[in-house]
Amino acid sequence: MSTVFTKIIKGEIPSYKITENERFFAFLDINPNAKGHTLVIPKKEENKLFDLDKETYRDLMLFSYRVAKALEKTVACKRIGMSVVGLEVPHVHVHLIPINVMDDMRFTKKEKLSEEAFLELAKDIAANFE
Ligand code: AMP
Repeated sequence: MSTVFTKIIKGEIPSYKITENERFFAFLDINPNAKGHTLVIPKKEENKLFDLDKETYRDLMLFSYRVAKALEKTVACKRIGMSVVGLEVPHVHVHLIPINVMDDMRFTKKEKLSEEAFLELAKDIAANFE
C-alpha cells in the first residue's frame, strides 16, 4: 500500500507544495514544530534513510540544501535545523525546520497556522527556490 507521502506526490491527497523535480518533492509539514517546517522526500518510496541507494541519498541532501536556502531567505530564524526521524510515516523525509530555540527541534512544541498562512508560506518559499 502507498504511503501518505506517495499519495501526496501523486496528488491523491492535498499538500502545501513548495517545489518538485523528477525525483524529489518538498512541502510544508502539516503539524509544524515552527513556522516554515518543511519536508523533503524522494519520490521513490523507501522506508529508512540509510536504505536509500547512495546516489538518491546524495541527491536528496543536495535538493534539501536548495530548499533550506530558500527557507532561510523566507522565514526569520537563527538557522535551519535538519532532522530525519521517520517513526510516523515510513517514507524517507528530511525535516527542515527554521529554529530559534532548542525546543523547535523537539517535535513536542507545535505551531498553529491558518490555511491562508500555509498557502502564503509555501508560495513565498517557492519564490525563493533557486
Ligand atoms: P516522522 O515520521 O516521525 O519523521 O514524522 C512525520 C511527519 O510528517 C510529522 O512531522 C507530521 O506532522 C508530518 N505529516 C504527516 N502527514 C502529513 C501530511 N499529510 N502532510 C504534511 N505533513 C504530514
